[in-house]
Amino acid sequence: MRKRVAVIGGGIAGLAAAVRLRDLTPPDTEIIVYEQSGALGGKLRTGELGGVTVERGAESFLMTGADGAESAAVALVKRLGLGDAIRHPARVPAALAFGGRLAPMPGGTLVGVPGDLAQLGDVAHADAERDHDAGRPLLAEGEDVAVGALVRERYGDEVVDRLVDPMLGGVYAGRADGLSLQVTMPQLARTARVEHTLRDAVRAAQRAGRRVPGKPIFGAVEGGMSRLVGAAAAASSARISLGLPVREIARTAHGWRLLLGPVPAPQTDDVDAVVLAVPASPAARLLSGVAPAAAAALGALDYASVALVGLALPPGTPLPDLSGFLVPPSEGTLVKAATFVTTKWSLPGDGPVIVRASLGRAGEQERLQFDDAVLLERAMSDLGALLGGELPPPVASWVQRWGGGLPQYAPGHLDRLAAARAALPPGLALAGAAFDGIGIPVCIASGERAAEDVSKAWEG
Ligand SMILES: Cc1cc2nc3c(=O)[nH]c(=O)nc-3n(C[C@H](O)[C@H](O)[C@H](O)COP(=O)(O)OP(=O)(O)OC[C@H]3O[C@@H](n4cnc5c(N)ncnc54)[C@H](O)[C@@H]3O)c2cc1C
Repeated sequence: MRKRVAVIGGGIAGLAAAVRLRDLTPPDTEIIVYEQSGALGGKLRTGELGGVTVERGAESFLMTGADGAESAAVALVKRLGLGDAIRHPARVPAALAFGGRLAPMPGGTLVGVPGDLAQLGDVAHADAERDHDAGRPLLAEGEDVAVGALVRERYGDEVVDRLVDPMLGGVYAGRADGLSLQVTMPQLARTARVEHTLRDAVRAAQRAGRRVPGKPIFGAVEGGMSRLVGAAAAASSARISLGLPVREIARTAHGWRLLLGPVPAPQTDDVDAVVLAVPASPAARLLSGVAPAAAAALGALDYASVALVGLALPPGTPLPDLSGFLVPPSEGTLVKAATFVTTKWSLPGDGPVIVRASLGRAGEQERLQFDDAVLLERAMSDLGALLGGELPPPVASWVQRWGGGLPQYAPGHLDRLAAARAALPPGLALAGAAFDGIGIPVCIASGERAAEDVSKAWEG
């Protein structure tokens, strides 16, 4: 009989699930994507600034997966016929703010954790003696720790505060002391279960992840990430429902009943299977009636809020020849990172000079609770101070807020997630950044896996 499957959440994880469902299920299967906002894409949202295409959310994806093969993002882009549209950032260095100025980023680190302390230069002092061999691996089998706990113990505070924190801040807006090693640095977690010193564990992880020289690390889609979103929606030939939140999931004799829309005018939809691809707190709410143990495990996940400030500076505004910079929390600025978009993406030199600044970190929500004009002013003054001179007024600007946008995976996250997945009834699967990791490829892979799980459930 003809099957119907609902994907709840129209971010990239939900859309990847919809595409995989289309590829796996009989052609008459009806796939419905329920997205509560007015547009698909979630954190993938391409915008415009001073006549230039600029991302208002995620801007690029890793080209390679942990196994060294092409990432799930590259595979999906190719599946959608956009392989020729993949572009790569220019090979320009990034810098690190240090003592109110920009300094070169030390080389040879793994997300800020050095494998060779000699390369740290003046940026941070590490006590090599602390990283001694105690005759056993750094981590026991199955153990997870905060990145900060491991690196502080082995190298001291400066390496964490000046190098690891800004790197993790750039990706997660989080702090090393709160983030799980297993989720944020899976390769290092693996080698730490074998090696006896952090130095050896970093080097082993770097060898395992050794990239082919000259092969680009990041990619993006010409025309913007929203093009990927549109292509995925089209390839899935799903029915797209926008502007209606799913409020409840209940079991029926043969599948699931979704309760949708505003409380005064509810609607229902009966489906055979559900892929839940929403952030942790809506996921926990939706699971509370059908999988309370899974809901409880997910409800514990915290999120950080960030705001992006996009600036189109007058053509010719001089900037250092960098792709951007990262700022450690100890610098005290609201800006935690900046991308020099024009340089990084080799945009034409005669247009406005585009800078995208990222503001806010985990636990600092109150620092973003100002109106857009104040955030713009703070971004301009932080950037001016770090660049050594006031910036000219922008010809165009925007502020994009991502309230509760970035999951903060605490140590033990993967065990809690495994428990949540084990507690799910068949025909219901989880996907997205709340679960397996933050990066676009990981979100896509989790959507594809969820699609495979639910389609297997109804075959069986
Ligand atoms: C500012 C920023 C920059 C980033 N940069 C990068 C980057 O450069 N590279 C990278 O790899 N990653 C980046 N990331 C991370 C990455 O973009 C996200 O982790 C990923 O896009 C999340 O996808 P998702 O589908 O899991 O969730 P989301 O994109 O959050 O999508 C979930 C969707 O579910 C919808 N929803 C929620 N509740 C309901 C409900 N009850 N009913 C119906 N719909 C609902 C939401 O409206 C949303 O559209 C960035 C993230 C941010 C915030």
